[in-house]
Amino acid sequence: MPPQSSYIGRFAPSPTGPLHLGSLFTALASFLQARKHQGQWLLRIDDLDTPRLATGATEKIITTLDAYGLHWDGEITYESQWLEHYQNAIERLTQQDIIYPCTCSRKQLKRDRLENPSIKTYPGTCRYHRQSPLSPHSLRIKTPEQSITIDDLLHGQLQQNIHHDIGDFIIKRRDHIFSYQLAVVVSDHRQKITEVVRGIDLLDSTPRQVFLQQRLGFATPNYQHIPIIVDSHGTKLSKQAFSTPVHTHNTRQTLYYLLTQLQQNPPQELSSAPLNELLDWAISSWDIKSLKKITAISL
Ligand code: GLU
Ligand code: ZN
Repeated sequence: MPPQSSYIGRFAPSPTGPLHLGSLFTALASFLQARKHQGQWLLRIDDLDTPRLATGATEKIITTLDAYGLHWDGEITYESQWLEHYQNAIERLTQQDIIYPCTCSRKQLKRDRLENPSIKTYPGTCRYHRQSPLSPHSLRIKTPEQSITIDDLLHGQLQQNIHHDIGDFIIKRRDHIFSYQLAVVVSDHRQKITEVVRGIDLLDSTPRQVFLQQRLGFATPNYQHIPIIVDSHGTKLSKQAFSTPVHTHNTRQTLYYLLTQLQQNPPQELSSAPLNELLDWAISSWDIKSLKKITAISL
């Protein structure tokens, strides 16, 4: 069925390892949300953080999504092919005089914090240095003394003063890698994403992203932050925590299980239905609002 609405959603995994149950959960929720709206669901590979990339991860992610019937629209995009767009965005921010080089090393910032425990964020050490440093440096953005309000459709309005809570944050790292915050804003804009459905662990990043959208003159998409899956110790499943990859041989059972976890109450008789039947049921009865205000789901 061709897309019939202006809804554009996406799933944007970082290929730092194969999909685990938590990332499949996010993929499924964003897929169902897009399909429910007869919209497009794009697959973007967030592969900028080269030191963390795992060989073969992209292929594994693609195979897993395919095995679960989560078919994306159009071509897969790769952030690594959009470097000039991230650089352009930095140039536009530089013209606004809100970007500055920072030579502080992580070690030095840590030492400063130990000496002065009241320092919780980047203290702005390099904000007023005039010379452009020749030594390795990151680029930071000056954050304003003002609250940014975001309106999450599941969690309501949230305010953050990023200057107080985060401080001037990095938009290009000293290893020349564009930061996640900058890249995600530029990529979502390029792809005309109208709604972002992702894990609540990224809720905290959203005010920074809205701030960047405002500085770059980009529209802000809708945001819905869904619960993350935690293990029995309350730790988020993540590639870093070596959570086990999802299998592709028991897709029906896993999908049924995930729909239960997504509070969709799949009927018992569908537990042995073919995958596409279960997915069709899931699309037609999908209700993201049942995830309202839930922050974590325990395995
Ligand atoms: N690439 C990010 C991750 O895997 C997610 C980006 C996003 O959804 O904003 O955690
Ligand atoms: Zn600095």
